[in-house]
Amino acid sequence: GNQNCGKTTLFNQLTGSNQHVGNFPGVTVDRKDGAIKGHPDTLVTDLPGIYSMSPYSSEEIVTRNFVLNEHPRGIINIVDATNIERNLYLTTQILELGKPVVIALNMVDAMKKNGASIDTKKLGERLGCKVVETVALHGTGVKEAANLAAKEAGAAGNIPAACFEADIESAITEMTKLLPESVKAELRRWTAIKVLERDTNVIAKISLTEEMKAKAEEITAGVEKSRDDDIESIITNERYNYIARILDGILVRPKAKMTISDKIDRIVTNRILGLPIFLLVMWGVYYLSISTVGTMGTD
Ligand code: GDP
Ligand code: MG
Repeated sequence: GNQNCGKTTLFNQLTGSNQHVGNFPGVTVDRKDGAIKGHPDTLVTDLPGIYSMSPYSSEEIVTRNFVLNEHPRGIINIVDATNIERNLYLTTQILELGKPVVIALNMVDAMKKNGASIDTKKLGERLGCKVVETVALHGTGVKEAANLAAKEAGAAGNIPAACFEADIESAITEMTKLLPESVKAELRRWTAIKVLERDTNVIAKISLTEEMKAKAEEITAGVEKSRDDDIESIITNERYNYIARILDGILVRPKAKMTISDKIDRIVTNRILGLPIFLLVMWGVYYLSISTVGTMGTD
């Protein structure tokens, strides 16, 4: 999940003191591994907090390579419920990796305190994965999330369904056809999206021929031209639109906190009291200026 969504808290709840701290090779990014309490045959890794799967920071590269190369049998995606849109951005990318995913919708205590709520069941149905509400801070739901992850572990992950506008989906389909056979079924959509985004790491890894590279660039350039935008903004917008559709009708947003100014406004602009208050204030100002203070000034 993202930074500060409760990953380490949840990891600590799961593993207790069965932890091993190290580093990812070549980068100064902490790596924590541990077995789930009472299940010595399990291995859980606390990955760095990231906001996207792009290869721009060492945290992003570490996390992405971990999922692609170390073959985790399942992923617990920890989502901060108080900041759900931004957190689900990463989720849309994690779901593309074709692994079994369980979402721990964390910080639901804080969400409820803000007066917000979300239909967890519908969220899971729309995303196509299990969602468990957790309060990692108190250990609530943590076992359930781990049990579900263990149950799903190793199962075939969902091959992610189309979630973008038709023109982008057809570009992805076209791109998928260019990919070599060696790209596994569950990773074909993800790889095609990355190639569409001109991700050089991915392009290098799947060793496209020069001819295929030219064709891929043609597809990307075509989309950019017809949308009159750069591919990264296009895909980012598509992801946020998809998230908006996912959350439509199932998210009750937090009640906006009323500031003192809001509270005053509510009284002085009240339909019934507004005018009398206005007259009273004007009368007060007038009264002060012709008697008391006014008289003093004149004298
Ligand atoms: P990480 O950056 O994802 O590893 O996040 P941490 O586990 O370090 O947690 C960030 C902060 O959120 C800490 O202060 C935790 O105590 C707090 N936190 C974690 N889980 C919850 C939760 O379920 N509810 C609340 N209210 N706070 C939480
Ligand atoms: Mg942490």
